[in-house]
Amino acid sequence: MTDFDVDLFVIGGGSGGVRAARIAAGYGARVMIAEEYRMGGTCVIRGCVPKKLLVYASHIRHDVEDAAGFGWSIPSATFDWPTLIANKDKEIARLEAAYTSNVEKSGARVVKTRAVFEDPHSLRLATGETIRAKYVLIATGGAPNHGHAIPGIKHVISSNEVFHLAELPKRIVIQGGGYIALEFACIFAGFGSDVTLVYRGDNILRGFDDDVRAHVRTEMEKDGITILTGCTVDKVGKHGHEFTSHLSNGSSVASDQVLFAIGRHPNVANLGLEKAGVAINPKNGGIAVDSFSRTNVPHIYAIGDVTHRTNLTPVAIREGHAFADTVFGKKSVCVDHADIPTAVFSQPEVGTIGLTEAQARAQFTAVDIYKATFRPMKATMSGRDTRILMKLVVDATTDRVLGCHIVGDGAAEMVQVLGIAIKMKATKADFDATMALHPTAAEELVTMRTPTARYVREAAE
Ligand code: FAD
Ligand code: NDP
Repeated sequence: MTDFDVDLFVIGGGSGGVRAARIAAGYGARVMIAEEYRMGGTCVIRGCVPKKLLVYASHIRHDVEDAAGFGWSIPSATFDWPTLIANKDKEIARLEAAYTSNVEKSGARVVKTRAVFEDPHSLRLATGETIRAKYVLIATGGAPNHGHAIPGIKHVISSNEVFHLAELPKRIVIQGGGYIALEFACIFAGFGSDVTLVYRGDNILRGFDDDVRAHVRTEMEKDGITILTGCTVDKVGKHGHEFTSHLSNGSSVASDQVLFAIGRHPNVANLGLEKAGVAINPKNGGIAVDSFSRTNVPHIYAIGDVTHRTNLTPVAIREGHAFADTVFGKKSVCVDHADIPTAVFSQPEVGTIGLTEAQARAQFTAVDIYKATFRPMKATMSGRDTRILMKLVVDATTDRVLGCHIVGDGAAEMVQVLGIAIKMKATKADFDATMALHPTAAEELVTMRTPTARYVREAAE
């Protein structure tokens, strides 16, 4: 049978799937895209976008507090959680509609239903319809991990539910030390909640530069967040409206909500992958793909979080676009996963790109570190007890800047722009040749002249 209903069937209307569907349709392909929940996917509906809106909202407490030093007196500012959530929901609904209409305008057909493989070329929709597709793109994303089935796990919420709480929790326990745990710890602290972060390792943000990890922790603690390391939540009890998190170190913490943010897993279950013959990557549980996002079945591709490579929205979008260019646009495009800028929208923010100091020292024989911590100018008048960290990691042999790590307001914006220089393999001399823009925090990046440390690896005997 060679007659197909569509040239491309996309499973999942998130960041990656939507981009692939639009671009493929633009090349003239007959495209159908299935979404079982809401168009826009994790990023738009319950990820980056609503999260950033909550970050903006919670930051306002700091802004109000900081105003006094500049002569403003703002009597008793009050905050209403239901208003924030309703306004956020309205904006997300607007975006969802825009995503649907943009896909439809591109010529692709949107079906609001779950789709699973019946065989390598056939997709069964929850409506009962079966569609035969020449190519299939799996873009089903990921979902929050729940961890071990500890007693009381049913009382624990994930990032899916946290966006829809009826009330602002006065006290919250958050388990995890990664992106989501830190972002929500700071969001709730900004709203005045009493936040306890429980992390199993020795310090939060494992995998980030060690100076960044230490600096963020200090800043979060200064803002009143309790960070408990070296322990886990082993049991959650409920008495009336109060939860008690029993920790592995023998202590317990009472709260109004318990949130676990302990990683995400790729959505590969119950998709009929075995009927399609699609292989899983045994190393990460995602769909196994090559550098063109092609699975072991030649006409089936997978992109975004379901491949569990780098789980970020711009990466899923790039992979979706590259897929469409390669398969329908007659130009082979392979996504470069090196030097991806990333940010943790904690307060203060973390912005980072390239190698950490530890990674550079493991890979290069001579490494220079340029590091500065300083009080932002605004804090001199607001009186806020906060410091910025800026760090450059440089290959001392070639002078190339290998990594840049910033903790402070605006870190994400700075690193996005700096990412161009790092991607172009800029040297420290290029940074030095760039005139400072005064007065900014970012000028520190082009004025650090003397290495704060130099590491030279001894030649092997
Ligand atoms: P998704 O966006 O997850 O889309 C997959 C879609 O497939 C979903 O809508 C799902 O309903 C649908 N689906 C699944 N199975 C089926 C099926 N069988 N049939 C039909 N539909 C199906 N990244 C950033 O870059 N910056 C951030 O600030 C950021 N913040 C985040 C905050 C949170 C709280 C979370 C959870 C994630 C965040 N991310 C962020 C990560 C980002 O959201 C993901 O990397 C991105 O959404 C992945 O896109 P995707 O297309 O692979 O999958
Ligand atoms: P992360 O991988 O960032 O962090 C997971 C955290 O949970 C780690 O601290 C990990 O500890 C801990 N953990 C894992 N398993 C357990 C367990 N069984 N018990 C206790 N602790 C555990 O995942 P998130 O859930 O925070 O976010 C998922 C992904 O979504 C991110 O990795 C990122 O790709 C994306 N994202 C991006 C954002 C952004 O760009 N700003 C924001 C939010 C999400 P350990 O370090 O010891 O393994």
